[in-house]
Amino acid sequence: MERLSPELAGRLRDARRVKGLSQNALAHEAGCTQSAVSMMELGRQDAVSRETLRKIGALLDVEVGEPDAARLAGRECMAAGGRVCCPQAECPSNVPFAVAGTVVFQPQAQPAGRAGIYCAYCGEVLLTACPVCARPLSEGGHCRDCGAAYVNSPAAPDLTPDVWAAEHRKQIAEWRALL
Ligand SMILES: [Zn+2]
Ligand SMILES: [Zn+2]
Repeated sequence: MERLSPELAGRLRDARRVKGLSQNALAHEAGCTQSAVSMMELGRQDAVSRETLRKIGALLDVEVGEPDAARLAGRECMAAGGRVCCPQAECPSNVPFAVAGTVVFQPQAQPAGRAGIYCAYCGEVLLTACPVCARPLSEGGHCRDCGAAYVNSPAAPDLTPDVWAAEHRKQIAEWRALL
């Protein structure tokens, strides 16, 4: 069971109140105890099962399944030895180089144990598969199967690719020195 975020717990509590349901009534509908609902609203991750959380989300019209599914996709991908990477050009996990007049990226691995739906460095939603052909991510910044770039092009109209890449490598080095 993934940890309930305080934000999700708060949304579930507010949605229950808006619908005029007591914790008891919601618990009855969802097939759990009132104290489980109470603990869930306080953000206790083990308060209710995944199945019950899904039921509660459906009863209250609160989306609880999707972020979970995406987070699991990231975890499962890494557990299976797969790669994940951040699609954000400005992210310090993507080291840029200029090659033949274009910027290419060498994505760095996300820290072990922290991989989930979001990039540990910048918070962007991680890629777990090629955005074009949906095959598992290859080494490097491009899909071996279809050639799609995993990292979005940098928005840098004023800088040449060489200058942009050099600037960003410098920033990344400075940023890492602070850790
Ligand atoms: Zn990132
Ligand atoms: Zn592809």
